[in-house]
Amino acid sequence: MERINFHTHTRLCKHADGIPADYCREAVEQGVMVLGFSDHTPYPVARWSSVRMDIEQLPQYVEWIRQAQDEFPQLKIIMGMECEYDPEHMNFFMDELVGKWGCKYLIGAAHHYLSKGEWVGLYGRSMDDKLLWDYTDYLIEGISSGKFLFWAHPDVFGVCYKGWTSEADACSKAICEAAASAGIPLEINGYGLRKPMIEDSGEMRHLYPLRKFWDVAGEVGVKVVVCSDAHSPKDVWNNTDKCVEWAERVGLQVVNEELARHFDCT
Ligand SMILES: [Zn+2]
Ligand SMILES: [Zn+2]
Repeated sequence: MERINFHTHTRLCKHADGIPADYCREAVEQGVMVLGFSDHTPYPVARWSSVRMDIEQLPQYVEWIRQAQDEFPQLKIIMGMECEYDPEHMNFFMDELVGKWGCKYLIGAAHHYLSKGEWVGLYGRSMDDKLLWDYTDYLIEGISSGKFLFWAHPDVFGVCYKGWTSEADACSKAICEAAASAGIPLEINGYGLRKPMIEDSGEMRHLYPLRKFWDVAGEVGVKVVVCSDAHSPKDVWNNTDKCVEWAERVGLQVVNEELARHFDCT
């Protein structure tokens, strides 16, 4: 399988290292053929601004990626962005990021989700079954919006939801069915595999990805994207092969190459 990674950050998001050229240099060394940048989107308003670039830095992001495209012709470099599904700002994402600045794709991802019209963060608090259903409804809406190339770490609820129940099974199934029917791939995320494991119901597990979520995904049959979600240049590929193993374990098809062909004429 060709090494293709669509999920790469830069230091602009304030919690990653390096500029695009640093990731590209590593990518060439590690045999990556296609590298997509997908830093955390800026907002025209102050929203979660401690973990994303400022709107004034958007031209810098674009310029760095253009420079890298000149400097590394042997590498296919694609400019994208990682966004929450945010009904209020979908126009900003489409008109500004894609229309004006030339982003070729958007990754959908939840670090927050909407519950009764209010944003709830996934980190720093626990999640009960009711909130898990709100998260699920939010993901289904985002996935079904058709604005995203794929959905990153759909099982990130593992950071705050402990103890697997039949509700968790049902929510996972609903998310996977939405993805399958929209034809939107779900991501197995390498960054989650690199984070320290946690104890849950007497066993150690990853915060995410969650084996039980992917068991369900295997039964439903979804398309899978594997990404390193690099926040440091050395991680430009890192354990993404492990993500491939996760997909193979449950008999799911990895579609990175299919998605890369998408950009052949751009
Ligand atoms: Zn990040
Ligand atoms: Zn990311």
